[in-house]
Amino acid sequence: MTKFNRSSALLFIFLFFLSCKGDVDQSCQEQTASSATPSASCQDPSGPIPETPVDPVNPDPLPEPGVDVPEEASLFGIKSEFTNFTAADKAKVEKAFSIIKSVIRTSEFRDRVLNFSYQGQNKFVGSELSPEEIYQGLIDGSEALVPGVDHEMDLNLELYYSSSSTVGYTYANVLKIWMNRKFFDVYTPSEVAGNVFHEWTHKLGHEHSSSYSVARDSSVPYALGYMIEELGKEFE
Ligand SMILES: [Zn+2]
Repeated sequence: MTKFNRSSALLFIFLFFLSCKGDVDQSCQEQTASSATPSASCQDPSGPIPETPVDPVNPDPLPEPGVDVPEEASLFGIKSEFTNFTAADKAKVEKAFSIIKSVIRTSEFRDRVLNFSYQGQNKFVGSELSPEEIYQGLIDGSEALVPGVDHEMDLNLELYYSSSSTVGYTYANVLKIWMNRKFFDVYTPSEVAGNVFHEWTHKLGHEHSSSYSVARDSSVPYALGYMIEELGKEFE
């Protein structure tokens, strides 16, 4: 490595930390384990590893779309790049993808989103959008960084290990989602599905408070992550 490159790398690492710690609410969106104390900042992911694109094979048959579920829900797909995934990790996450696609096709998921309420109001905590708009946004799959209605989750997942309580995190200005192997390794496919979906809603622009509260569980990322996990058990 040349001197210039080493300086650039150090500068990059410094800026990385700066962007993460500077404003946790806006630039660093993490999901913490509900039973643990949230950490103060995001974790440093491990060093650069070559990305491995994976072909979108889905061996599981998907259920027929439910009554009243919009036609586009049956087109809903997931595209992802993976970093630091073994063959077994990929198999687990592909199962999680299949679970997400299955849940999206159910009337129950649609009904739960549309009828969601917090303290008697038909709304999600911290969102100005109506449940109908939020639901349509999910089906549209138009990420802020990958705009366009493609009915697809555009993902870039990286596994790392940290002993912290952070399950996963991402930043508003990158597509990549970091997932903590400490949790990934012991999670069921439904729990992985819930975690991935939580992080993906950040890519659609949904946010939540960085510190734990009962209300935070009713924010779009947490509420929908829990919904996917709970309804996903049926498809494991
Ligand atoms: Zn989050």
